[in-house]
Amino acid sequence: MDLGKLIQDRIRDVDDYPKPGVVFKDITPLLADHVAFAGVVDAIVNHHGRGTIDKIVGIEARGFILAAPVAYHFGAGFVPVRKKGKLPSRTFQETYDLEYGTETVEMHVDAFEPGDRVLIVDDVLATGGTARATAELVRRGGAEVVGVSVLIELSFLEGRGRLGNLDVHSLVTV
Ligand code: 5GP
Repeated sequence: MDLGKLIQDRIRDVDDYPKPGVVFKDITPLLADHVAFAGVVDAIVNHHGRGTIDKIVGIEARGFILAAPVAYHFGAGFVPVRKKGKLPSRTFQETYDLEYGTETVEMHVDAFEPGDRVLIVDDVLATGGTARATAELVRRGGAEVVGVSVLIELSFLEGRGRLGNLDVHSLVTV
């Protein structure tokens, strides 16, 4: 089975989660398959090329799972963006509308060296609110956003359009 088909095959649609009318893309079957999981990590790393990125930003919570091995394979550092109240030191905050509700995300103010080149990694790009808020946090931290890599892009929600000129790379488009 080719990688694209394998990835598609390992993403499960869950109806009415987390609320009625939403079809949630569940990536846990993909994570449990070491060939699919490694293939996703390799595809993200190969898209950008080693040595081009200083830090990988992972978005809580499923973004962490993908971003950490991507950072390891890049030879880049890892920076967490977390939901409000979870980071111990001083933070920048951004609040935005989510597909379901509102959310505030935070990042440590000293996460970057000036001019660091940063790739943002998450599992799903839906409305783009989370990625846009994260890109804003990175810029406020004095770093440059090189791109956004996601496993799944829900293109009908037009999140890409909310990210301006950022390079958005997705492995599966729905
Ligand atoms: P957005 O801000 O683009 O509307 O939503 C993206 C964020 O919500 C991501 O952090 C992602 O983890 C989560 N998310 C939204 N919809 C889904 C979904 O269907 N499946 C998964 N796994 N995450 C989702």
